[in-house]
Amino acid sequence: MKYDDNNIFAKILREEIPCKKVFENEYALAFHDINPQAKLHILVIPKGKYISFADFSKNGSKDEIEGFFKVVGKVAEDQNLVEGGYRLLANHGVNAGQEVPHFHIHIFGGQQLGPMISKN
Ligand code: AMP
Repeated sequence: MKYDDNNIFAKILREEIPCKKVFENEYALAFHDINPQAKLHILVIPKGKYISFADFSKNGSKDEIEGFFKVVGKVAEDQNLVEGGYRLLANHGVNAGQEVPHFHIHIFGGQQLGPMISKN
């Protein structure tokens, strides 16, 4: 599968469409999810063109992987989520229902988050 330059997060990275930015550095951009599933729902995306976690973990450089995950941790800390707890989620592919084909991690927090996986 080839990376789609027209996916919505690629457009956000190119600033063709806006986002509610939380943090940005050379490795990653963090912004609020447009359709929040928890009181706090932030997405963190790498700057590089990676389709999913499978692609990023296999093909990302050590610097990109370290830089990206440092941002995930920093955002959670900056949002005061460490003490109360938070959840990270990355959907890969069809079974997980991945909608946007640019790797992203969801950060959920600010409330009790319930069971890990839907029973439906
Ligand atoms: P996933 O199902 O893991 O691919 O999640 C994609 C997420 O992107 C969903 O939670 C959407 O609400 C979110 N999303 C889609 N478009 C935008 C956008 N323009 N700005 C912020 N979040 C978005």
